Amino acid sequence: MTPAEEAAAVRRAVIQAAAGRPPVWALDFDGTLVPFADHPAAVRLPDPVRRDLGRLPSRGMPVLVLSGRSRADLATFFGPDFPGDLVGNHGLDWPPDLAPPDVPPAPPAVWRRRLDELLRPWPEAWVEDKGATWAVHWRAVPQHRQDAVRTALAQFAAALDKPDFAARFGNHVLDIFPAAANKGRALKRWLERRVGTDWPRAVLVVAVGDDLTDEDMFAAVEGRGLGIIVGARAPTRASLRLSGPEAVAALLRSFAEAPP
Ligand SMILES: [Mg+2]
Repeated sequence: MTPAEEAAAVRRAVIQAAAGRPPVWALDFDGTLVPFADHPAAVRLPDPVRRDLGRLPSRGMPVLVLSGRSRADLATFFGPDFPGDLVGNHGLDWPPDLAPPDVPPAPPAVWRRRLDELLRPWPEAWVEDKGATWAVHWRAVPQHRQDAVRTALAQFAAALDKPDFAARFGNHVLDIFPAAANKGRALKRWLERRVGTDWPRAVLVVAVGDDLTDEDMFAAVEGRGLGIIVGARAPTRASLRLSGPEAVAALLRSFAEAPP
């Protein structure tokens, strides 16, 4: 199937499940709206994708981009006039009008020293410090050395000695974050604020993502919305699948051009 054919099939499933309700969109960023690059800063958001996403809210379909990146980082891709909401740091970094009152703690500094020491044999691996969360990236490590760095990081993650923090492997990344951070919880909060507590009946929420952290979004909407997994990852709680960002772009374009 071409990306356009995949998108057409998923569009039909969304419209059928919506049963007359407007779809609202919750989308991950990396691997979902944009393909991966060797370095997160090398990623480019195609203009048509930004434009199509930006057209959805004025057509009655609110948009949330929910990412592990910081919100400031996300904003560099979407610009100041983007009409959707950007929430970063796995659901910890909110726009001022939606922000929860409690500020999560940052991971302890001693962990950072331990990590820097551990990563010394792999100079291509690096720690992205996003305040309340960290991301350890090793996509740029030569392929034949990636298993070793992953094993070392798994040992590091297993030895974390604070129960209020969690570590989770994603696509060439180890995320370290407060256990309270959860994309599913963030999605529900956003829906209650933007749509209202009646969201399961008022709208059809469509959650789209490629990574393990996105499974929390799929679980949050299970039975009350639709999950779309992007790429080949399995198992998943999503009920629909698109092969990659190109197919996601085609789906968004179809809803921007022809709202149901
Ligand atoms: Mg992703």
